[in-house]
Amino acid sequence: MDPRLFSQRIQSNNLFRVAAHSVTLDIPTMYFVSVVTNLAMTLAVVIVALRQSIPGLSQLAWGLVANSGYYLVAGARDRIPELLAVGFGNMLGSLTLTLVLLAVLSSRRARMAPVLYLLPVVLMLIVSLAWFDDRETRLILASFILSYQIALILWGLLRVGHIIVGRGRMIMALTCLVGMSMMIYRALALWFGWHDVTPFQSRDSLNTLFYMINYLGMFFLAFGFVLSTVEQSAEQNRRISLEDPLTGLANRRALFENMERLFNRAESSGQPLSLMVIDVDHFKQVNDRFGHQVGDAVLQHVATTIKHRLRSNDIVGRIGGEEFLAVLPESPPDGAKRVAEELRHSVASKPVVADNQEVGVTISIGLYSSARLLSSQTPDSVIATADEALYRAKTNGRNRVEIVEVPAPA
Ligand code: GH3
Ligand code: MG
Ligand code: MG
Repeated sequence: MDPRLFSQRIQSNNLFRVAAHSVTLDIPTMYFVSVVTNLAMTLAVVIVALRQSIPGLSQLAWGLVANSGYYLVAGARDRIPELLAVGFGNMLGSLTLTLVLLAVLSSRRARMAPVLYLLPVVLMLIVSLAWFDDRETRLILASFILSYQIALILWGLLRVGHIIVGRGRMIMALTCLVGMSMMIYRALALWFGWHDVTPFQSRDSLNTLFYMINYLGMFFLAFGFVLSTVEQSAEQNRRISLEDPLTGLANRRALFENMERLFNRAESSGQPLSLMVIDVDHFKQVNDRFGHQVGDAVLQHVATTIKHRLRSNDIVGRIGGEEFLAVLPESPPDGAKRVAEELRHSVASKPVVADNQEVGVTISIGLYSSARLLSSQTPDSVIATADEALYRAKTNGRNRVEIVEVPAPA
């Protein structure tokens, strides 16, 4: 499509015609309202930031302040020296995007070479002053600088293999895409003469479009950012509620939720399933002799050993003080026996070093293994049977595996 035609279409588009011509947008009022809205958003962000320290929120608040400053300078354009208005105003606009970028980087605990985000602010000032008399070139260059800055924010949002998850981040990314397209369109439209260069105060379609996208863009960036921090902390809470803090394994609750699913699947597909209850031997003595901290280190060591030995679709968690539970879907008795023996052996053969002391540790395992899981074999009944096997392992001398094997029905 001919870009000139596209440009005309945008200009004759009803929405922008209405905005640009039918509605009288009083420029000073418009900028005054923008200052007030941005300060109100700053206040809202500061209130959120006061209750919890969320990384990035303070940078976002400063970004909103800088944006208010931009509108303040723009609104006062007739009353202050124009050189100051153009130079300072444009610099504040660019600074706003740098602060939004810093908010995004901080919330994702990421860094970037400062020159990448400080240079555009300096360049913006230079461009504004050097091309002070040439509004066209100035606007084209400024648009390119701003689109580069928005691209940096977009990169910050999408970086290191993360796909867009969370609606907040999605809103921010879409806002960036729209903003970037607008900046590039404005630069090209002025460069190739698809659009006339008009004075700052003119209410033509390009100026109106720029103003609207600027105004709404900042609103959506701030809203998306706050939403994404809320989503992030909800996700963190969800993880905390399912994880054992000492070992990082699944806790009892997460384990039982997953177990229900694995049992149902094994039963409906007639697959084998194995389950182990693992208990550290004489753990009370470890605590008594070496202290609780060494005891905790032993638990972490055992947890890591179990986790490394199991496959990714096995589930393992801590169900009590020094007791662990592992479910091995699709593991027939022979395989499960081997895994249990290897686990027992690798714990027994490597003393735990904690607090400059070597602690010899052994585990006992009650293993239940069914060649084909039946509906009568529920998580509770299977755990009870594995517990009995564990008890036998303890009475038979510890550091051993006792097995309950259920062959496939004929
Ligand atoms: P057995 O070989 O028969 O299993 O003997 P045991 O001493 O391991 O068994 P018992 O159940 O008598 O003792 C378990 C001990 O585990 C009691 C408690 O002090 C300790 N314990 C429970 N939770 C934790 C924990 O989170 N950290 C530490 N360090 N110790 C814990
Ligand atoms: Mg024990
Ligand atoms: Mg125990």
